[in-house]
Amino acid sequence: MSNEFLDRHIGPSAQDITSMLDSINCKSVDEVVSKTVPNAILFGNRMQVDEGLTERDSLELATKLAGDNILATNFIGQGYYGTLMPTVVQRNILENPGWYTAYTPYQAEISQGRLEMLLNFQQMIMDLTGMDISNASLLDEPTACAEAMMMAKRANRKNKSNKFLIDSNTNTQTITILQTRAKPLGIELVVDDIQNNDFLDCFAALLQSPGTNGEVRDLTADIARAKDNGVLTIVACDVLALTLIKTPAEMGADIAVGNSQRFGVPMGFGGPHAAYLATRDEFKRRVPGRLIGVSQDVLGNSAMRMSLQTREQHIRRDKATSNICTAQVLLAVLAAAYGIYHGAAGLKKIATKVHAKASNLAASLNAAGFELVATQFFDTITINTDKAQNLFDSAQKSGINLRLLNDAQLSMSVDETTTEAELSALLAVFSIDQLTESELALSVSIMRESEYLTHPVFSQYHSETEMMRYLKRLENKDIALNHSMIALGSCTMKLNAATQMYPISLPGFSKMHPYAPEDQTLGYQQLFKDLEHALCEVTGYDAVSLQPNAGSQGEFAGLLAIHSYHESNGDFDRNICLIPSSAHGTNPASAVMAGMKVVIVKCDDAGNIDLDDLKAKVEEHSDKLSAIMVTYPSTHGVFEVEIKQVCEIIHNAGGQVYLDGANLNAMVGVTRMGEFGADVSHINLHKTFAIPHGGGGPGMGPIGVKSHLAPFLPGNPLEKDSNAVSAAMYGSASILPISWSYIKLLGKYGMQRSTEIAIVSANYIADALKDSFPILYRGDQGMVAHECIIDIRPLKEQSGISEEDIAKRLMDYGFHSPTMSFPVAGTLMIEPTESESKREMDRFITAMISIHNEIQKVISGEWDKDNNPLKNAPHTAHEMAGDWSYPYTRQEALYPVESLVANKYFPPVKRIDNVYGDRNLFCSCIEVSEYI
Ligand SMILES: *Cc1c(COP(=O)(O)O)cnc(C)c1O
Repeated sequence: MSNEFLDRHIGPSAQDITSMLDSINCKSVDEVVSKTVPNAILFGNRMQVDEGLTERDSLELATKLAGDNILATNFIGQGYYGTLMPTVVQRNILENPGWYTAYTPYQAEISQGRLEMLLNFQQMIMDLTGMDISNASLLDEPTACAEAMMMAKRANRKNKSNKFLIDSNTNTQTITILQTRAKPLGIELVVDDIQNNDFLDCFAALLQSPGTNGEVRDLTADIARAKDNGVLTIVACDVLALTLIKTPAEMGADIAVGNSQRFGVPMGFGGPHAAYLATRDEFKRRVPGRLIGVSQDVLGNSAMRMSLQTREQHIRRDKATSNICTAQVLLAVLAAAYGIYHGAAGLKKIATKVHAKASNLAASLNAAGFELVATQFFDTITINTDKAQNLFDSAQKSGINLRLLNDAQLSMSVDETTTEAELSALLAVFSIDQLTESELALSVSIMRESEYLTHPVFSQYHSETEMMRYLKRLENKDIALNHSMIALGSCTMKLNAATQMYPISLPGFSKMHPYAPEDQTLGYQQLFKDLEHALCEVTGYDAVSLQPNAGSQGEFAGLLAIHSYHESNGDFDRNICLIPSSAHGTNPASAVMAGMKVVIVKCDDAGNIDLDDLKAKVEEHSDKLSAIMVTYPSTHGVFEVEIKQVCEIIHNAGGQVYLDGANLNAMVGVTRMGEFGADVSHINLHKTFAIPHGGGGPGMGPIGVKSHLAPFLPGNPLEKDSNAVSAAMYGSASILPISWSYIKLLGKYGMQRSTEIAIVSANYIADALKDSFPILYRGDQGMVAHECIIDIRPLKEQSGISEEDIAKRLMDYGFHSPTMSFPVAGTLMIEPTESESKREMDRFITAMISIHNEIQKVISGEWDKDNNPLKNAPHTAHEMAGDWSYPYTRQEALYPVESLVANKYFPPVKRIDNVYGDRNLFCSCIEVSEYI
């Protein structure tokens, strides 16, 4: 089958594949697959998906679909605004694989560049909100509000109320998402006008500033009343408005949340963009999501790392503060870059111009006799009019989108991109022929006086040359896929092809407002239809929701669907969720968020679900059994033969099967979960379907379901009680063209071939390493799935060298470590994917075998057991230049294998002290003198 792109996507050549098959004693790729995937579920490729297109044809089709979207002049606002991404940022970050192909910064020493940028993001949010600490991103503003609600519930233990108050002047999508999230936790929502509320019976309250109708108020008095009653306050605020108006901290709030989208990140029909959560010092250990902190390396140099929550869900499981795993790193990086490039004065200028446009607009409407709802506003004004619908319709006819707040109110928001011509066109809708120049509307009493963005990072990079070099300098500190393979098991770090990435920059996709009328989004609708169809074909499910914007959110949405299904059958007591002990940490965390009780099922020595234990647990909880969450192939990297039986046991007891689809890359075109018994799965598009990891997000976690669960998929976030889980109907819609392109380019055969080669490659690596490191689990015919776990514990026992030492030593060899200690402590999980060439895999194998030989030197006593290249890894360039006091040579430390001479990476810091960082939590930018 000829497929031009397939040959680009698959790493090994035909000849390489033959020689890999030889090494693993298989005659054909088919033989590998039939020995790996249990016969009972080997269905053959029955996907009704077209064959692959050429790159040129795929791009042309994507461009056509983008063109089918109509970009009207947008005044909708409601949390999403037009913005100008600086081209230096677009070219050097968004369109640069050095940034977008990086992984989440768990291996901090090789992630200092993006960690520094995330610290800049945190500092920027702290400055803008006035809070003491900020996290490094959440998924979107409404889910950030939900995380804040849960955080406040835990933080405010003294207050026994289970009511959460929301000011009525809050965005609809925020209220909807809070409904979805509050219900399973037994939290009761009260929506009320906060100015007339005495805060008597609630544990926390959410206010929005500016309000959904644009009104800006000083919230100080309301917040003080709340505080008097022991109620915590959360303010959802607008980052650009914060450059002009008083901060939530100055008004006394406890938590600030919001979205950084309008700092240079396109609306993208709903995302992705980085939301944030910032709070006071006293709550710093309760912050959900990832928090970047400053620690030090073993030489005492400042170095950054993820604090506290590192692998939080894996450690705390059902007691985790949140299920957020993949967040929005790349978008936080982009927003921080926007802040750095403009600086305080630049941002203030942008904000003032926006406010001036709104002020002029308001004055013009007012002069023409329209009544304004509020005299204090930033960028959004609302008018009272009995002709709201007529005006809305006639605006739309002239290519202008407004927001119909209700029957009698019309809103309009301006932004950085709004031109004079657009304002004139808008006024024409109201039969006003001239824009009235007016004073700024905001009164002095609400204006901000405090300084912000005073750290030098926000004033040093305003020239394009300096900015370009700063971004390059940071990029050079990190290892991403453009340097070497990243064989992270369970994360599927495959090729993110340029042709797949290209469409996200097309304006037809990137500039669409998420609440634009449907007839303007026909290109997107077609793309979603194509993608939903293909994902149904891939999985064997009947329906797909593209809404969840990470795997964790898909888990939550899928479990809610299961819960609603049970309720629709009159089963109100089914709340037990069985989870095998080897599950990913998001599984138990999501189950708890969905109001379920987690019961752990054991795994046997071979890594399979212990069927006896499963049966016992099912029997014990039969009437209350809601679901099982299983990963397939298992997190142990094997296709369990009994999967069909597992599904049957659960179904017979009236339960539902949630299959974690993170390992779908081992199944596409070979087997389908919907056919072997699963009811619902999330599909991590940032793993199997080529969305890049972005250094820790964005991602997309659509869910597929069998038909009986389809009525319970997430609904429209603008409709109350719709079970929506994201602010936008299609989540982070603007990255869906990446997965769509992936499917178009590979097609039916190419996707199957990718799965097959991923399995061949994993078995090739397992075979090449088996004599140096034992392979922990294999299937019944001795094969691994698309990843393999190597056991470091026996070597550690002999040598004292741990999996972490190996991970750090791999940095000296120019590699990112495989997944460390998941799902089994003391192991490394390797997943090469189909897109790594045999040459690159061989380089990795050579490095691992060389490390094995180094460990032998420790065991034999040739190398000291504490002072050796493994324990001292990684080694920096700076160290090499100084006095060399190690009992081994520079060559042994830095150039242990020949191939490094031509392509050497130097980590910027030595091993980082995790404990120091958590004890001395410091999450803002460091003194300039400390940068190295
Ligand atoms: C990656 C992963 C998840 C979580 O997905 P996110 O997109 O990071 O939320 C869940 N389960 C497994 C097995 C995974 O590998």
